[in-house]
Amino acid sequence: MSNESSPLSVRPVRAFADNYIWLIAAPNAPRRVVAVDPGEASPVFAELDRHGMSLAAILLTHHHADHIGGVATLCAAAEVPVFGPDDARIPGLTRRLADGDTVELDSLGLHFAVMHLPGHTISHIAFHGHGAVFCGDTLFSAGCGRMFEGTPVQMSASLRRLGNLPAATWVYAGHEYTAANLRFALEVEGDNAEASAYRARVAALRAEDLPTLPSTIGLENRVNPFLRCGEPAVHAAVAAHEGRPLADPVAVFAALRAWKDGFRA
Ligand SMILES: [Zn+2]
Repeated sequence: MSNESSPLSVRPVRAFADNYIWLIAAPNAPRRVVAVDPGEASPVFAELDRHGMSLAAILLTHHHADHIGGVATLCAAAEVPVFGPDDARIPGLTRRLADGDTVELDSLGLHFAVMHLPGHTISHIAFHGHGAVFCGDTLFSAGCGRMFEGTPVQMSASLRRLGNLPAATWVYAGHEYTAANLRFALEVEGDNAEASAYRARVAALRAEDLPTLPSTIGLENRVNPFLRCGEPAVHAAVAAHEGRPLADPVAVFAALRAWKDGFRA
């Protein structure tokens, strides 16, 4: 079994305009890697070649093409297990996962608990283990995914589950949206000093074309308005924007998500 306390070695692979495919190095075999959400095969092949690594498994968070599009090509080159949500829209799965399942990759020294997080899509899952969570398009740094299929009740509960993970948990999300998300976060909560400081760090990273991820759950709980719908400042700002009282954090979340959908920084 792997050591829960040892941090994972994870490298980002860029795909499309702003996707990240995460490559997790196996603690027991560092040149073998697990790919999370390979929407494209070619950048994964390039990264494997560059570092003399081989693919050992694939983890998928949801069915969108920019997260699964490279699976068939990768599996044609190397027959590896493919783990993902139980959703007929995802071809090529070798194991279909539900909430509370575990992914045990004993020979690699990797194991993850599966969290079902409906909202962005109805079958979206995340993989939690080794002090990290691979959360696809549910939680982004300073933002969250659009609600394509789920309800505000579902999406806000999914985000609350992520927010309740240990503060030190590394957050590996599916897209580099942090800078734009922070513009909206500070529109909502202009007095959030930590969000302002984070914006400066993010701007410096992006100026050097570096990833802003991983984030941590602790940071997200302090700067991400979608995890802060129970905070009086966020509640008040959203109610003011709506021009009506909002009954509870779910109502705040629904109005906040709709506000973001129409927001252009
Ligand atoms: Zn998606």
